[in-house]
Amino acid sequence: MNRYFDYNATTPMSAPARRAWLEATEKHWHNPSSLYRDAGFAKQKLEEARERLATLLGCEAGRIVFTSGATESNNALFVSLAARLPSNARIAISAIEHPSVREAARASFPNRVLQIPVNADGIVEPDAVADIIASQTPALVSVMAANNESGALQPWSSIAAVCQRADIPFHSDAAQWIGKVPASSLGLCDYVTGSAHKFGGPKGTSFIVLRDEDEPLSFLRGGPQENDKRAGTENYPAVEAMVTALEEIEPRLPSIAREQAAYRDQFVEAMRDHFPELRLISEDAERLWNTALLVMPRHDNLKWLTRLSRRGFSISTGSACSSGKEGSSVVVQALGATLEELKRVVRISGGWNHTEADWLALAEAFGEVDRELSHGGRPVN
Ligand code: PMP
Repeated sequence: MNRYFDYNATTPMSAPARRAWLEATEKHWHNPSSLYRDAGFAKQKLEEARERLATLLGCEAGRIVFTSGATESNNALFVSLAARLPSNARIAISAIEHPSVREAARASFPNRVLQIPVNADGIVEPDAVADIIASQTPALVSVMAANNESGALQPWSSIAAVCQRADIPFHSDAAQWIGKVPASSLGLCDYVTGSAHKFGGPKGTSFIVLRDEDEPLSFLRGGPQENDKRAGTENYPAVEAMVTALEEIEPRLPSIAREQAAYRDQFVEAMRDHFPELRLISEDAERLWNTALLVMPRHDNLKWLTRLSRRGFSISTGSACSSGKEGSSVVVQALGATLEELKRVVRISGGWNHTEADWLALAEAFGEVDRELSHGGRPVN
């Protein structure tokens, strides 16, 4: 039984990714920048992996820079843009961005970050982006593709079109989209962030897609790796594993989405049997098939989390905060919840292979924990 329901935080490496990593580590561990033959093979494999990823994303390979994670990708983008934009340039980001966008944007553009609001479903409306463009002319718009807490899919392609019409560059942090929803049109965005460990690839590996191949990136300085955009020895085995993970999952996404969304919805129904007052965030919006962000009717989220954890279930409270620990939900806050409600938020995020029984066992465990907590915290059998 799979009791891990925190796939939006990280995923185990998939079997094909592990095999690819091992083979690459055994055969092509050399430094791709060295000049002898074996290093040349590693460099060639790295470039082939870049081409394969470009095909999956629908962009030119030269636009892709491999990085250590979505956090680095987001930081690299804002630092590089701030270095070449006028010192009074402003940028616009949505109210529900991950801290690696929010904090990085604030650090590079102090007091010059405009916030795009969300509607009552937790969605950034293209009209809201158009309004901010018309009134404030930001130098960049950044709106994530899928929200890490609620799973709400953002209308990023319409937002990209709004930005394109106004000739304003558009960035989308697609860390939660890639590997769960087909990625092939993301190349339409000027900038895209991804993260391997969210889709069965290794941790510490990722990429950013730039607007064009000649664009400089000035975050990690040192050697001329990655076409002089990102210094540091390239991690070919990890890149190979990342691309293999995505290639393996992409064709299966439509059937996985259908099956898993049905299990997730059954879970929510079972939860409503136990807790009729349960609130499901972004219920009326299109959401990732694996995610349910819930406001529980009673008990603090840490109580739910620790007691479910004792039963072997892993869930989360919603968001990663700037300390790197879990904080209170940014999305539920943006929707105007009270502090008391915020304490009752839990995030459930399943994987590609959960069964109906796994999901129903989690709902059952919520019921058990509720009985325990409602009896003064004593276990009841
Ligand atoms: N953006 C989003 C939307 C995320 O969900 C995450 C991971 N929680 C990140 C960025 C950061 O990714 P990484 O761990 O690869 O730095």
